[in-house]
Amino acid sequence: MREATQTEVRRAFDSGMPGLRPPRSVIVIGAGLAGLAVAYELAARDCEVTVLEADTRPGGRAYTLRAPFADGLHAEAGAMTLTPHCHYAMHYLRELGVETETADLLDTTFSYFARGRFFTPGPEAVAAAGLALHPHEEKLGVAGMIERYVTAVSDSLQPDLSAPDWEATELLAPYDRRSVHQVLTDRGASQAAIDLMEPMFLEMRGGDLKTASALSWLRHEASPHSLSNADPRWAKVKGGTDRFPQAFAERLKSRIRYRRPVVRVEQDEERARVTYLDHGSLQTMEAERVIVTVPFSAIRHIDFTDAGLSDAKHDAMRRVKYSSVVRVYLQMRRQFWPQRNASFSTDLAIRWIRDATPQLPGPRKIMECLMTGWRARAVSVMTEEERQNFVLTELDRMLPGARDHFETGASVCWDERPYAEGAYILPERGHSALLPVIRRPEGRVHFAGDHAGFEPNGGSMTFALESAARTVLELGLTGTP
Ligand SMILES: Cc1cc2nc3c(=O)[nH]c(=O)nc-3n(C[C@H](O)[C@H](O)[C@H](O)COP(=O)(O)OP(=O)(O)OC[C@H]3O[C@@H](n4cnc5c(N)ncnc54)[C@H](O)[C@@H]3O)c2cc1C
Repeated sequence: MREATQTEVRRAFDSGMPGLRPPRSVIVIGAGLAGLAVAYELAARDCEVTVLEADTRPGGRAYTLRAPFADGLHAEAGAMTLTPHCHYAMHYLRELGVETETADLLDTTFSYFARGRFFTPGPEAVAAAGLALHPHEEKLGVAGMIERYVTAVSDSLQPDLSAPDWEATELLAPYDRRSVHQVLTDRGASQAAIDLMEPMFLEMRGGDLKTASALSWLRHEASPHSLSNADPRWAKVKGGTDRFPQAFAERLKSRIRYRRPVVRVEQDEERARVTYLDHGSLQTMEAERVIVTVPFSAIRHIDFTDAGLSDAKHDAMRRVKYSSVVRVYLQMRRQFWPQRNASFSTDLAIRWIRDATPQLPGPRKIMECLMTGWRARAVSVMTEEERQNFVLTELDRMLPGARDHFETGASVCWDERPYAEGAYILPERGHSALLPVIRRPEGRVHFAGDHAGFEPNGGSMTFALESAARTVLELGLTGTP
C-alpha cells in the first residue's frame, strides 16, 4: 500500500475523510494530542477504541503548570505557541470550542544580556556591544545576519525546500549531510554572530549545531512556523494549553484508561496484543490494530520483540534524538525589572529568561528560565530547591532584586519526565532518511506522534495532529480485515 503524501492527507482531512472503513477495534497507546485525535476520529466512526495512557492526565507534552502559583497564574511546561498555519491544531480547537488568544511570545520585547550589559538586536546596539563580530557583520544587526546567513541559503534551495510533498531531492540531500554550524560558517558567520542568531531559531530546540541537520533546520526556518517569521496572528490556548487535550478527553470519556503504562506489544496474522500495567498487575488486551504514539525517547519501556517489526524500525527507535529542555518558573511578588514584558537571551548559564505572564495585569508575575542542551542536563540532576536557587542566583546578577521578590517556584525537566524522557525531536544529520521508516506501519502496528510526521523539525502540536490524520487515513484504507 502506497503511503499518502502530506497533500493527500490534508485534502482527505479537509473533506472529512469520506468513505473511511476503520477497523472494528483499535488500541491507542498514549493520550497525547496524537493519540487523542486518532481516538476521537475513530470513535466518531463507530470503531471500538481504547486509549491506554501511562500518566494520570491527558495531553503528554501539552502540559500546563498551575501549582504552586498564586492568583490563578499558570505557566506552560510544554507546548505554548500556535501559528495560523497550524492547520490541524486550529481545526480541532475550533471543532472542540477551545478559545485562543494572542501568543505570549509576541507580547515580549526581546533583547540580549551579554558581558554584563543589555542591548537590543538592532544594528547600532549590536555594533556597540563589543562582540567579536567580523567587520562586515557590524552593520547588519541580528535581522540582517539572519537574512544573509539563513534566508539567503533557504532561498537558494527553493522551490524544493518548501515543497508541500517534501523529499530530500538532489539539491537538498547534501544539506542533510551537513550540520547547521557548517552551513553558517561556510557563509562566513562569526561565532559571535551565530550566538546572536541562535535564540531566534535554535536555542529553543536544544541542539548541538555541529550535529544538527542543516536541511531539517532550513526547512523549518523557511516555514511560517519559524520564530523569525512570527506575525501578529500567532496564538496560544486561552487559559492554558492543557484545555486542548482536556477537550478531546471530555469527548472520549471512559475510552481513555489512565495509569495504564504499556509494556509489551505483539502481533500475529489475526490480532495485535498489548500488555499493560494495571494497579500492579499485568493485563493483556487484543484488537485488530494498535497505534503507538509514544515518543521514541520513551519507547524502550515497551518490548517489541514479538511485534514483528523490521530491523529498520528498531534502528530508527534507537537513533532518533530528543532535545534536553528544562523550564524553571519563579513567582515574583511584583515586576521589579524595568523592561515591559521582558525576554532576554543571556550569556549566563540560565540562557533565556522571560516574563511568562506578559498578558496578566499582576501584580504577581512568573519569570521563566528556559535552558536547553548541556545546561538543561546539568540542572536536571539538581534537586528542585537547588535548581530554583541556581536560577535565582544567576538571575540576580542580571536583574538585581530577583531573590528579594521571589515567592515560590516550580520546574520541569523533560529528560526526567517519565514517559517523555526528552522534549522534542532533534533532527541530526541524516534525519530525513529516517522519517519514512518512522511513519511506516508494520503489519497491525501503526505509528503516530510528532516524531512520525512529515516534517523533520516536527516538535509541534499541529504536526502531532497531522500524524494522527495520516494514521486514521492509513487505518481506513486498510479496512476491516
Ligand atoms: C518544552 C516544550 C515546548 C514546546 N513548545 C511547543 C509550542 O510552542 N508549540 C507547539 O505546537 N508545540 C510545542 N511543543 C511540542 C508539542 O508539545 C508536541 O509536539 C506534542 O504535544 C506531541 O504530542 P504527541 O501526542 O505526539 O506526544 P506526547 O504529547 O508526548 O504524547 C505521548 C503520550 O504517550 C504516553 N506514554 C508514553 N509512554 C507510554 C506507555 N509506555 N504506555 C502508555 N502511555 C505512554 C505519554 O504519557 C503521553 O501522554 C513543545 C514541547 C515541549 C516539550
